[in-house]
Amino acid sequence: MTEVHKGHCLCGAVQLEGRGAPKLEICHCDMCRRWHGSPAVAASFEQGVHIVQGKDAIQTFQSSDWAERAFCSKCGTTLYYHLTGSDVIHSSQAGLFDLPEGLSIHEEIFVDEQPDYYRFDTDAPRITSAEMFERFEKYEAEQQNND
Ligand SMILES: [Zn+2]
Ligand SMILES: [Zn+2]
Repeated sequence: MTEVHKGHCLCGAVQLEGRGAPKLEICHCDMCRRWHGSPAVAASFEQGVHIVQGKDAIQTFQSSDWAERAFCSKCGTTLYYHLTGSDVIHSSQAGLFDLPEGLSIHEEIFVDEQPDYYRFDTDAPRITSAEMFERFEKYEAEQQNND
């Protein structure tokens, strides 16, 4: 059976489920920090994030040509980051979910955009924005080969 991690926004209007094993990463990019008011601790799940209640309370903001960021229109909780061309929600906010103890951070990303007033106590690999864009390009090339 697939493990299910339940999550919800601050007011409870939006109920989500993360299905499958969770993977956590910290994003230090300028956009995430503005979106949350702090760095993002993002959670992805093997079988994605699913909205189980409150779809009509969700509003999205198109933050780039390829992605949108969703939030609860009633309480303002930031919900997830979504690639607009995809059917799946890959990345949500770890704080929304009831996650088990003992998880560790998989990696920290966009570390060159990190301000020097905070630091997380992890041994996770630190990935720069140049390395991230290389990954995106590789991913896009693979997608086109699959067409
Ligand atoms: Zn809410
Ligand atoms: Zn980010």
